[in-house]
Amino acid sequence: MRIDLHTHSAVSDGTQSPTELVRAAAAAGLDVLGLTDHDTSAGWGEAVEAASDAGVELVRGMEVSTTHRGASVHLLAYLPDPTEPDLVAMLERIVAGRDDRLPSMLDRLAGLGMPVTLDDVRRVSGPDAVPGRPHVADALVAAGHVADRTEAFDRYLADGGPAFVDRWAPELVDALDVVRRAGGATVVAHPWGRGREASLPEEDFPVLVEHGLAGIEVDHQDHVAPHPDVRDRLRRLAREHDLVVTGSSDHHGAGKVDHELGVHTTAPEEYERLIARAAAAAAAAGRDTPSVV
Ligand code: AMP
Ligand code: ZN
Ligand code: FE
Ligand code: FE
Repeated sequence: MRIDLHTHSAVSDGTQSPTELVRAAAAAGLDVLGLTDHDTSAGWGEAVEAASDAGVELVRGMEVSTTHRGASVHLLAYLPDPTEPDLVAMLERIVAGRDDRLPSMLDRLAGLGMPVTLDDVRRVSGPDAVPGRPHVADALVAAGHVADRTEAFDRYLADGGPAFVDRWAPELVDALDVVRRAGGATVVAHPWGRGREASLPEEDFPVLVEHGLAGIEVDHQDHVAPHPDVRDRLRRLAREHDLVVTGSSDHHGAGKVDHELGVHTTAPEEYERLIARAAAAAAAAGRDTPSVV
């Protein structure tokens, strides 16, 4: 069983349609695929159909933008009821914040001599995608200002970079509560990648567990050098708190290098525990949540 529980389609900032992503997962020899677009369930319907055609088991999820200790934390939410009103309201507010910051990012880029317009961004993202910095990066590429997304992030768009603008996100503990009430299971994504450990220290995990955190994404490309022991320490932390351990690619199609489908995978017994946690959350919330299909 090859299980990859964290991927993005063009509904957010991946480059493949949900159908293309599901087909690519089958071609890559995956048995189970988690679709986790940023802050939206909009790709679920198309992915469900494609998955039944492709013979892939699909886990409907999303990657929710949150904030903790003033820094960004990504929260994977699996199988929440997408119609739960608080969840709907939270996602709408996050997406509105994504829209709102685009003009100021573009102003900064213009000031840096790298003009791109909102239409340029919409052209590369498609009209309905949840907009993100990778789309701004794609617009910079299309305008010939940079060679690829990586250069756009390194020079302008990375956190704290000259064209970076922050946006609204719910507190991590509040997002945990909302997903739990929607009957979903939560896994904190790449918690200690890219220097994030300071903003999500080990001592904060007991509180997250009280708010229903179900798992930690341990095996991820962001958890590499210069901290080679980071995965071992996260695995131990997960064991200490009886949390599920996942491993995933965080695939973005052609949009992110070194994140090929299946580059990291989740053990079948951990996957079973995760699905059981979602079922328990759904029962406790009295919600009719999506099942694995
Ligand atoms: P946003 O959600 O708009 O704040 O953009 C963050 C997203 O940009 C992340 O979820 C990644 O998918 C992507 N990202 C972050 N850093 C990089 C990078 N250096 N190169 C390519 N994509 C990146
Ligand atoms: Zn992304
Ligand atoms: Fe992420
Ligand atoms: Fe992601």
